[in-house]
Amino acid sequence: MKAVQVVGYDSPLEMTDVPAPEVTGPYDVLVRIGGAGVCRTDLHILEGQWKEKSGVTLPYTIGHENAGWVHAVGSAVTNVAEGDKVIVHPLITCGLCRACRFGDDVHCEQSRFPGIDTAGGYAEYLKTSARSVVKIDDSLVPADVAALADAGLTAYHAAAKAARRLRPGDKCVVIGAGGLGHIGIQVLKAITAAELIVVDRNPDAVKLAVSIGADHGVTGDGSQVSQVLDLTGGHGAETVIDFVGEGGATRDGIAMLRRAGDYHVVGYGENIDVPTIDIISTEINLIGNLVGSYNDLCELMVLAAQGRVKLHTARYRLEEFQTALDDLDAGRIRGRAILVP
Ligand SMILES: [Zn+2]
Ligand SMILES: [Zn+2]
Repeated sequence: MKAVQVVGYDSPLEMTDVPAPEVTGPYDVLVRIGGAGVCRTDLHILEGQWKEKSGVTLPYTIGHENAGWVHAVGSAVTNVAEGDKVIVHPLITCGLCRACRFGDDVHCEQSRFPGIDTAGGYAEYLKTSARSVVKIDDSLVPADVAALADAGLTAYHAAAKAARRLRPGDKCVVIGAGGLGHIGIQVLKAITAAELIVVDRNPDAVKLAVSIGADHGVTGDGSQVSQVLDLTGGHGAETVIDFVGEGGATRDGIAMLRRAGDYHVVGYGENIDVPTIDIISTEINLIGNLVGSYNDLCELMVLAAQGRVKLHTARYRLEEFQTALDDLDAGRIRGRAILVP
């Protein structure tokens, strides 16, 4: 089959012919790829940022945002059958460790990550496990939802975690209305009755945020903290979800937080600098968020099937992988680029 592989760091990806994966274990599931999302992480992989962390041997096939159709299953697989339309949770998890037994797939002690440390989905077929495939509604198209497997899942996980504490009328600030942020806004709108205040430096992103359900849009022109304080009666917001995490976003975000509020970190890059005396005297909570669980992905697919979460995509044929990566790198893509074999 055709596959796009990392052959070296700081050198371009190459398309080659490799043997198609085969079912070897009882819980294996082979997925015929209908769409593979092109992610900023793929650029970071090529820059060598994941070299030490993943320990992967080159060459290998990248692509960690995958959806398609079940092509073959192992002898013990009962939850999906050949022909089922599925989205693929990004991790292959063991199901036996303490984290797995809590449903906390991301912290599995024995996980593998196709596209990062083993063969991924920039290919015609992908091998994963029965634990990782989520059947999707008939109305959904794999290429439309593939990027929800990672970017969307991360946004859902943070928004759903925040929503468990948000009460009707509470104020929730979303910093960053880009790829992840605009999914987060749609999710929050669908599952909470909180008032949404969206902050972004880009006026077009703010406009988009308001068009998909934000109650207030704040353009980050230097006055964003005072604008948010004005919108919250001077108290700040019960929750801030920070999809940016760099360029001063955390300093602003903490200043927008109400006493005893929750600060969700999703985007990353800078250090959070808060005096510990401020943390205890205001009882604020700083909360990390990493991808999402299998159940998170199931829930997100319910919202997608209901038409409450939509993702704008630009499709490329698999052999156009380089154009897709270049367009992503140059900021020419609205929403997500999707490779279709
Ligand atoms: Zn990704
Ligand atoms: Zn596990």
